[in-house]
Amino acid sequence: MEKKQLDWSNLGFGYMQTDARYVSTFKNGAWDEGHITDDPNITLNECAGVFQYAQTCFEGLKAYTTEDGHIVTFRPDLNASRMVDSAKRLEMPVFPEERFIKAVEETVKANETWVPPYGSGATLYIRPYMMGINPVIGVKPADEYMFRVFVTPVGPYFKGGAKPLTIRVSDFDRAAPCGTGNIKAGLNYAMSLYPIVKAHEEGYAENMYLDPATRTKVEETGGANFLFVTKDNVLVTPKSNSILPSITRRSLMYVAEHYLNMKVEQREVLLSEVKDFAECGLCGTAAVISPVGKIVDHGTEICFPSGMDEMGPVTKKLYDCLTGIQMGRIEAPEGWIHKIV
Ligand SMILES: *Cc1c(COP(=O)(O)O)cnc(C)c1O
Repeated sequence: MEKKQLDWSNLGFGYMQTDARYVSTFKNGAWDEGHITDDPNITLNECAGVFQYAQTCFEGLKAYTTEDGHIVTFRPDLNASRMVDSAKRLEMPVFPEERFIKAVEETVKANETWVPPYGSGATLYIRPYMMGINPVIGVKPADEYMFRVFVTPVGPYFKGGAKPLTIRVSDFDRAAPCGTGNIKAGLNYAMSLYPIVKAHEEGYAENMYLDPATRTKVEETGGANFLFVTKDNVLVTPKSNSILPSITRRSLMYVAEHYLNMKVEQREVLLSEVKDFAECGLCGTAAVISPVGKIVDHGTEICFPSGMDEMGPVTKKLYDCLTGIQMGRIEAPEGWIHKIV
């Protein structure tokens, strides 16, 4: 199959319209059987639930070409089950997990020529999402929903390798203690736009959000979980029920324990102890791990010993091991690599 003529190694991280996307509609209490369409546009009533009360959630995963030429996705079952959790919390109907995986497979297959070749550094980003589509003006859940999946080829998140980031402790909150921080809802992102634009204007790559109740504990950034490495080589990640359970972070914890023989702790992390860690990173599907070199807390700088030039040594090992598993260079734990082609 002839690939699209794209400059694969120089792709940015943006939307590019491809040939095909998947759509299924929920009406009268049931999902229809779903189909692939070439129409990238959606026409909805002006009063659709998604427009008025933000009833929408999404997922993000990637397909890529492995060393031996297969097209695979990484742990799509976890995206499927996380979307079930998001839908339930937003009073949306559940899109069945096995159908989610099928829809992802169908969409990727229908866009096979858009999957970047092995070694290009690029991947196919997959975006499943769901929204309320019928008119809703009194505050209540919609009765009709649309589930869709589109794909877009993306370049490496950080061009020219991952340079350590400088981030800051935010004065804004990301998620309330018993709110929606643990689900992948668009509303969590809408309210993070103001703080991230301000952070960028002031020269910071990301915001570190603290727990809103006490403002003493580390939560996450707008779209990535934190990883810390202690000076005696323990991987520590914050525990909180308002953090989004990152699949990358859960996978890295497993890799640390079972491939790198590290001790792993998921526990509350105080802001006051962050200065004692040896390394810090942010993790998520888009970049896998972005190293953090410096955290600025209202004028006080926390500088990690790994410095501002390259990833810390443990972060690098974790990154190489997980990307090796994803690309088929290192044997994966059972069930992690989902072969599509
Ligand atoms: C999607 C997301 C992440 C990363 O999750 P992955 O499953 O690793 O991609 C982290 N934090 C937030 C708030 C997110 O929305």
